[in-house]
Amino acid sequence: MSQEALSNLLQENRRFAPPSELAAGANVTEAAYAEASADRLAFWAKQAGRLSWAKPWDEVLDWSNPPFAKWFVGGEINIAYNCVDRHVEAGRGDKVAFYWEGEPEGDSRVITYADLQREVNKAANALTELGVVKGDRVAIYMPMIPETAVAMLACARLGATHSVVFGGFSVDALKTRIEDAQAKLVITADGGYRRGAPSALKPTVDQAVTDTVENVLVVRRTGQDVDWTDRDVWWHELVDRQSEEHVPEAHDAEHPLFILYTSGTTGKPKGILHTTGGYLTQVSYTHDAVFDHKPDTDVYWCTADVGWVTGHSYIVYGPLSNGATSVIYEGTPDTPHKGRWWEIIQKYGVTIFYTAPTAIRTFMKWGDAIPAQFSLSSIRVLGSVGEPINPEAYVWYRQNIGAGKTPIVDTWWQTETGAIMISPLPGVTHGKPGAAMRPLPGISADVVDENAQSVPDGSGGFLVLNEPWPSMLRTIWGDDERFVKTYWSRWDGLYFAGDGAKKDEDGDLWLLGRVDDVMLVSGHNISTTEVESALVSHPRVAEAAVVGATDAVTGQAIAAFVIPRGEGDVDVEELRAHVAKTLGPIAKPRQILVVPELPKTRSGKIVRRILQDIAEGREIGDATTLADTSVMEAIKKALNL
Ligand code: ATP
Ligand code: MG
Repeated sequence: MSQEALSNLLQENRRFAPPSELAAGANVTEAAYAEASADRLAFWAKQAGRLSWAKPWDEVLDWSNPPFAKWFVGGEINIAYNCVDRHVEAGRGDKVAFYWEGEPEGDSRVITYADLQREVNKAANALTELGVVKGDRVAIYMPMIPETAVAMLACARLGATHSVVFGGFSVDALKTRIEDAQAKLVITADGGYRRGAPSALKPTVDQAVTDTVENVLVVRRTGQDVDWTDRDVWWHELVDRQSEEHVPEAHDAEHPLFILYTSGTTGKPKGILHTTGGYLTQVSYTHDAVFDHKPDTDVYWCTADVGWVTGHSYIVYGPLSNGATSVIYEGTPDTPHKGRWWEIIQKYGVTIFYTAPTAIRTFMKWGDAIPAQFSLSSIRVLGSVGEPINPEAYVWYRQNIGAGKTPIVDTWWQTETGAIMISPLPGVTHGKPGAAMRPLPGISADVVDENAQSVPDGSGGFLVLNEPWPSMLRTIWGDDERFVKTYWSRWDGLYFAGDGAKKDEDGDLWLLGRVDDVMLVSGHNISTTEVESALVSHPRVAEAAVVGATDAVTGQAIAAFVIPRGEGDVDVEELRAHVAKTLGPIAKPRQILVVPELPKTRSGKIVRRILQDIAEGREIGDATTLADTSVMEAIKKALNL
């Protein structure tokens, strides 16, 4: 990354200290960093000790065959027991595990830990009746309903490996995932509610099942008509009549827990494999540390879809392992009105709220007046994940959702890392808008140059992880070679995540997006993230996506797509001038296109390769991983394509 581009983000010099009460009572203090660096493995062994193990491990880490790691070697543990039964046995069975809010108003359920235990046990018995045994793969294609978490926990309890597929995916996307995992069972629903109407799921499954699938277990959620075959079984007919007792078997620490496919932002999705002991250790620790979670008083809400890694780690496994009370919401943020999320926060008194920059920018676009109608005073920690958070979005979030005083944890991690890796700690860090700050205690990361040399403070380069971590991916399902080649081959002994980052003068980390998203304009490296943040800092821009388009003169030229904020036409020349003024003339976009929507993955990430196709006037490529394919029609219409 060039110095001139870097210095611009560094002009962001707002700093936010933690509120003193939060700092005084924080779960994790500054001392954790020193403790972890003094003896990293002892630190992680201590965190594993927060869980209940059926058999203790012999060795914390076996790294004798890198990059294939084994954590807590010889240990045995049952994840469902840790997430559910353990809390009931400790006398907390009446504590709420999930406040579930359906999309239709008034459609809600309260599920205690005792309820969850009964449901998971019945589901585990049902899966056993269907012939599912330890080691089998189960695909889960569900709406955001409590049965989704129950299904995942039932698999974990039995040692069946789940593969959750986002409920918005098409037949093709589901089919390739069922095939790749060779799933024996698919768990689905007739449909779920989205944007005020039932949206069908079962017909997609009917077309996607392959010959390894013996049964399809169907939850009745919407009551819509479904086709039926011999293979299909209703959840309420099979699960409801099962025994509420089920004795959990302890599984090896390295037993495969789940396969999850990456977003596919950069190409063909990869089936990321996570295992048992190390995964639960890190998701549990990070949920406690990063959100300063207090089980007796907090109400926690992560808005992710469970089909994304954030849903696995921070709706299901992390919070439940810590005995949290969480909110799950089925639908979209604007149904039936644009204040729905804030209404839910007010209803349940949510104290910890975790969402994505794409959502925050959408709320900015809708205007400050909407959240202002609701009481959000219960909130004490805000989180962000999925993309770099633009400084303007960070400040808006803090001001409008966090009453101008709530710490924001900008959490960097990936499907592959399994859990949060780089993040502020809310009781410790003096936050900088737009910075993920420091690796968490026990995590080791660096920014390096082409030759794997650590860059000095004030410079940018490639973000790498230089020590194994407990929740690291173990391989790409069925393809060890691709695992080694994709993540470990660029530099010896370093995991390369694909993201660019920079260290500021204090050594704090700023994520700059994927290295593939760095543009080369007239010989200067310019990061798409920086130009997007410059655009979003203009009051008329809600969201921006920037790509480098081939240009005969400059090599690459900057093409920007913007979604307007507020009423009336947007003056594109003024926006170009604004970017030039903010970042320097070299970063002035060649063209700015005003669009109503942007193509995004299910996790809200902009799929730049599609925008690049538009900017370069090509046929638009693979759009199957988009959360909503109708977006492309809206863009084409706006641009007269
Ligand atoms: P694929 O790997 O298939 O292209 P993907 O990388 O979008 O898909 P995920 O694993 O869901 O799939 O996303 C991880 C990526 O998201 C990170 O590599 C990074 O680019 C981005 N990301 C996540 N959180 C942050 C954050 N807090 N700041 C900056 N970038 C983030
Ligand atoms: Mg990725």
